[in-house]
Amino acid sequence: MAKILILGGGFGGVVAAEKLAEQLGDEHQITLVSRSRRFVFYPALVKLAFGKCTTKDISFDLRHAMLDRRVNFIEAEVARIDPFERKVTIAHGEVEGKLPYDYLVFALGRRLATERITGFYEHAHHLLNIDKAIQFGKAVSYFHEGHAVIGQCAGTRLPVPVYETAFALARHLDEKGERDRVKITVVGPEEFGAELGDYDTAVSLKKALIANRIEIVSNFPIRSLTANSIITNNGETINHDLLMLLPPFRGSSAASYVGVTDAEGYVNVDRAMRVIGQERMYAVGDCVNFVGPKLGHLATRQGEVAATNLAAELEGKEPAEHYSHEIKLVIDGAGPGSIYLQKNLWNDAPGVIRQSRVWSWAKRAQQEYWQLSHA
Ligand SMILES: Cc1cc2nc3c(=O)[nH]c(=O)nc-3n(C[C@H](O)[C@H](O)[C@H](O)COP(=O)(O)OP(=O)(O)OC[C@H]3O[C@@H](n4cnc5c(N)ncnc54)[C@H](O)[C@@H]3O)c2cc1C
Repeated sequence: MAKILILGGGFGGVVAAEKLAEQLGDEHQITLVSRSRRFVFYPALVKLAFGKCTTKDISFDLRHAMLDRRVNFIEAEVARIDPFERKVTIAHGEVEGKLPYDYLVFALGRRLATERITGFYEHAHHLLNIDKAIQFGKAVSYFHEGHAVIGQCAGTRLPVPVYETAFALARHLDEKGERDRVKITVVGPEEFGAELGDYDTAVSLKKALIANRIEIVSNFPIRSLTANSIITNNGETINHDLLMLLPPFRGSSAASYVGVTDAEGYVNVDRAMRVIGQERMYAVGDCVNFVGPKLGHLATRQGEVAATNLAAELEGKEPAEHYSHEIKLVIDGAGPGSIYLQKNLWNDAPGVIRQSRVWSWAKRAQQEYWQLSHA
């Protein structure tokens, strides 16, 4: 009998737990630990901010969903891992002290490094969790004229909600007859669209933004904020009346100081999703050190690969599955200009790009499927 501990109840951790429960016999104990028993479908947070869905539509009770799948759930805050002793230290929650394991799947996502941008905490809205999305939505409802700045910082690694927020804001203002009173600017730290890794997608996205009268400011690495301005290192400034800014990301601090991470705190893994330099340890999702954007469907695929390989390892076999870093993303909200991109970031093959309203529906269908299959 093996004790398998999965840390993190997001896309990566949940899929790893589900796949392990499918593949392993009852003699093995599978436990999922996460700080909240609520699973949140993050890609729908822009819709939540703009009142297009409710919290109930985009979240479900993880304990309940896991129980149905023969996985124990513990609501607790992970402080750190100790792969040498094979123990996880819990800071607080339903259990205390150290949880021992035989095999570990690390899926704690990314940390928001707001401390890297002076004034972020005091002056920026973001929408990376339910509360912040609702707060931003309230700010939008009080905003009727002026300059709205929607941006990302160097190291954000999540372009989709930036563009979706700009499109959603343009549409919201149009519906209220206030579009002419508001200038909307999208701000990024590098060349426009570079973070997408695909030139044609950047061109299509630029056209869709221009068609929606959204201004683009590139090569603007934000260093600090005041109540009404964003500022770069060399003092360039843009004033705003409404700001939605995604902070830099870093790896989860629970894996720091163990010698398994890169300079930004992301866990080093191989293509079997095994943590490099450690035994019986896998990592999946936003916490791993792969290039490009951090995406939910990558986390789910990595969760599947890790589960299959862990199950094989339990039987004394070599890893059977190898992960390939192919992104698939939808930038919703531009109506017929909504974009689908599929591209492998580990080779030079050109990406597949499509534009149609259909991709909005596909994204929504995916959210409804997750909700239906877990709630
Ligand atoms: C607004 C928004 C829009 C997005 N849009 C898209 C999109 O359109 N398409 C797409 O593919 N992806 C999108 N993403 C990205 C996607 O949601 C993430 O890539 C995905 O959630 C990563 O899954 P994960 O399991 O690695 O991490 P997470 O989903 O972050 O899960 C980590 C889990 O670990 C828990 N946790 C963290 N630290 C601790 C701790 N110390 N102790 C205990 N528990 C802890 C967290 O509470 C969380 O439950 C979006 C994300 C956001 C925020």
